[in-house]
Amino acid sequence: MNQTVKKFNTLINKIEIILKRQKLFSYPSYIQIEPTNRCNQRCVMCPRNDKLDVPIGDMNLEDFKKIINKLPTVRNLLLNGLGEPLLNKDLPRMINYASSRGINVSINSNCALINKSLAKELIKSGLVLIKISMDSSDSQVYQSIRRAPMEPVIRGIKNLVEAREEMKTQYPRLWFNSIIMRNNAKELIDILRLAEELRIDSVRFKPLDIWGMEHNKEMIVKKNELKKIIEKTLESAKNINVNHNLKKLLRDFDIYYRPKEKIPCYSPWTELYIQYYGGVRLCCEFFSQKYDIDNILKDNFKEIWNGPKMQQIRKEFIKGNTYFSVCQTCNRFQRNIRIYNKINKWTKGIKI
Ligand code: SF4
Ligand code: SF4
Repeated sequence: MNQTVKKFNTLINKIEIILKRQKLFSYPSYIQIEPTNRCNQRCVMCPRNDKLDVPIGDMNLEDFKKIINKLPTVRNLLLNGLGEPLLNKDLPRMINYASSRGINVSINSNCALINKSLAKELIKSGLVLIKISMDSSDSQVYQSIRRAPMEPVIRGIKNLVEAREEMKTQYPRLWFNSIIMRNNAKELIDILRLAEELRIDSVRFKPLDIWGMEHNKEMIVKKNELKKIIEKTLESAKNINVNHNLKKLLRDFDIYYRPKEKIPCYSPWTELYIQYYGGVRLCCEFFSQKYDIDNILKDNFKEIWNGPKMQQIRKEFIKGNTYFSVCQTCNRFQRNIRIYNKINKWTKGIKI
């Protein structure tokens, strides 16, 4: 499917959101696929520790290709789930296959496995973005959060940056994804300094999500305290030459704590999260197999997308009901806010 048809599908999708349709002509333009649920770290805040209720496994290349072929409208693919994607040895070939079908592919990775040769392979694969999980610039704090050493991570990042320079390309773009929690809240400025030193393109901070885990509540920084920390970091960051999202985070701060009252969730219209065994879930906040809507490897995708389960979910979301308990604590609003702003711009003055 060429890019014009894909873009037309995205346009129809927005119109169908405005019209609050439950059965859709349009198909998702964004998906997340889990290449593996194995991991080389054991992060303290990760749902993988006590929410994983499926066997450990990898997706194979043939299944990946089958899935991509079933989803021709997709424009953006995030290729990771509850695990480190680079543990799947076929990852560069998966990226290559999706890229050759006009899909922008990004991954989240801790980068600990990236040696010089893998760095070059990833660049050649067509990968557009690596979101590097980086919660501290201090190796002891890093180890206490990720329960894994920091040195291989720094080495992996350097390998990528050097390979990118050697091959004279700007891709993949390299971002730090930094989760703000009690353990690191005082050192956000040092994370920015580390990013500058390592020649990272951008730093994206995000407050810790509960992810349905009681013990994460203790690690969450309280709203007022967090606001002060962000303001202070923003002031100190003036002389640091690295792009970051702190201003944006401050601008959207209040919404961040009340997403469901202000910003609806568009996930049932716009995206899907596919497990390594083909299980289809609504979004990446659903960590249990009980939330599988269907299996894309076994069933016809069109029937899943417009089947009774998806239509019922859309109906409940239109009513504003928090259909799943997971949705009650979700603060994954950044994507929704982008769609919300776009729709509001189009429908200015029209009550929808
Ligand atoms: S690297 Fe990611 S998947 Fe692995 S334990 Fe940490 S947060 Fe979880
Ligand atoms: S509210 Fe959050 S958890 Fe629920 S579907 Fe939307 S993004 Fe996913």
